[in-house]
Amino acid sequence: MAHQLPALGYDYNALEPHIDARTMEIHHSKHHNAYVTNLNNAIAGTEAEGLSLEDLQKNISKFPMAVRNNGGGHFNHSMFWQVIGPNAGGVPDGALGKAIVDTFGSFDEFKNKFSAAATTRFGSGWAWLCVKDGKLEICSTPNQDNPLMDVPERGCGGVPILGLDVWEHAYYLNYQNRRPDYINAFFNVINWKEVAKRYDAAL
Ligand code: MN
Repeated sequence: MAHQLPALGYDYNALEPHIDARTMEIHHSKHHNAYVTNLNNAIAGTEAEGLSLEDLQKNISKFPMAVRNNGGGHFNHSMFWQVIGPNAGGVPDGALGKAIVDTFGSFDEFKNKFSAAATTRFGSGWAWLCVKDGKLEICSTPNQDNPLMDVPERGCGGVPILGLDVWEHAYYLNYQNRRPDYINAFFNVINWKEVAKRYDAAL
């Protein structure tokens, strides 16, 4: 079955003032939608058509760049819409909250390291919090790559449980060149319940 654009679980204006409605609408209905369309076109009639979106990431090295770029784009954005949401932000508790403090020293140190990964990703890409060998790790990837992809030479592996899109299309309408302000605002919309669910599943 062809890949489909998932519905957002909330309205385009639900993340204001942190992420504005116009950005959300264009990001979801135009950018993400284009990744889905282009992915379906790129895999039509190939063996990639039979793979789930997750298995496609894990075998991405076997396929052309159009599949890597658009398949990554579809996977990354599908996750992104779920790990952000309204009435969110704050500090996670439970096992994930404890693991963050154990790994990074404090939530603020985690925030600093994650923000640094997002800020220093040159050009377009993503920052990630991953579970690798049972441990939390922060890394970033270029373009629409992600940690699940079987391209170990690039670095950044494991199971992603939180991702931040730092392409200019994710923030330019509202924040222009101020990527650090967008990154700061992102922390107000992180859906830690969803991230914790992904953390538990990854362990
Ligand atoms: Mn994007």
